[in-house]
Amino acid sequence: MSKRDYYEVLGVGRNATPEEIKKAYRKMARQYHPDANKDDPRAAEKFKEVNEAYEVLSDAEKRARYDQFGHAGMGDGFGGGANGFGGFGNFGGGFGFGDLDDLFQSFFGGAMGGQGRSRGAERGADLRLDMHLTLEEAAFGVTREIEVPREESCDRCGGSGAAPGTQPSTCGTCGGTGQVRVQRNTPFGQFVSVQTCGRCHGEGRVISTPCSECQGAGIVRRRRRVTVRVPQGVDEGTRVRVAGAGSAGRKGGPSGDLYVDIHVKNHSALKREGFDVVSEVTISMFQAALGVEVEVPALAEPGKKAEPHKVSIPAGTQSGAVITLRGSGVPRLKGNGRGDHHVLVKVVIPTDLNEEEREQLQKMAQRRGEQLGMAGASGKGFFGRVKDAFGSR
Ligand SMILES: [Zn+2]
Ligand SMILES: [Zn+2]
Repeated sequence: MSKRDYYEVLGVGRNATPEEIKKAYRKMARQYHPDANKDDPRAAEKFKEVNEAYEVLSDAEKRARYDQFGHAGMGDGFGGGANGFGGFGNFGGGFGFGDLDDLFQSFFGGAMGGQGRSRGAERGADLRLDMHLTLEEAAFGVTREIEVPREESCDRCGGSGAAPGTQPSTCGTCGGTGQVRVQRNTPFGQFVSVQTCGRCHGEGRVISTPCSECQGAGIVRRRRRVTVRVPQGVDEGTRVRVAGAGSAGRKGGPSGDLYVDIHVKNHSALKREGFDVVSEVTISMFQAALGVEVEVPALAEPGKKAEPHKVSIPAGTQSGAVITLRGSGVPRLKGNGRGDHHVLVKVVIPTDLNEEEREQLQKMAQRRGEQLGMAGASGKGFFGRVKDAFGSR
């Protein structure tokens, strides 16, 4: 099975800057997010592919390895992470935190299967989860405690995998090197190849009395409470990294990281546009002509009630006019003030005039010298006026 080039997946050049990669990723993640593509089963595959590409290209070390070795270079160090992403098929519908277990099962399935691949210190698997925030939480930032099921070093055996009081012993098959030489005689001559030792799986050591707690893996699964601080100004597709909150490393390797992908729920009255918000207000043609003061829902800090904005719509406002409330939008990421709140004015024409109102409006139109439709004063009606306009007879 051939894998698409990661740069191609994100649609960036090989010398794209980290910012360009991030930008491309956010765009693609939004486009292919399963929540937004419930009817397209291929979107989940795309989404998985995009995430995997970003996982590698956003990490300087992994990117360098990928540049040098291509997909072949990703097998080892990417370890649990890469396998974990195999579970993306489950990402189907939007899920709350109650579904986290299912999500993490797939990660652990991969990570546990990847054990014993190399002898040296191994970095723990990165974990990734989705967090669904309200518009207010995303705008103002929020601190959430979440339970993350992850791999940790086994307390009972100190991570060695050997029952307390026992030691792993040197593998007799490979003499502790983790590799065996295999000699093959063929009609073309003798070939010698070096393979990973099948008995110790390259570890060089075997555990004769496995720890009862971790069954010799040296790693146990545990649910940990992790505090995630989401900064203000995040948006759909923002990825928050909690360093070291991923799975434990092996043999003294560092822990992986926890990545939290932010998703923003729709707001009943406000729509986000970058750091601005947009809302709509509907007024009648009389209010538009004479002016009116309206109340517009304000972007509130999470858990607080905000006083609505009082907005004066001046007399003579047209449908489609936009009134901008400066500095009432979303706080910017680095604390550089706030975006604006744009109020889009929609003027509606009454469809329920009674006889008296109709007469009044007709009189008003006549006083202003305005022609009215088919039954209008000129008697020409619409088509007649069009003919006049084009000068035809
Ligand atoms: Zn143990
Ligand atoms: Zn061995």
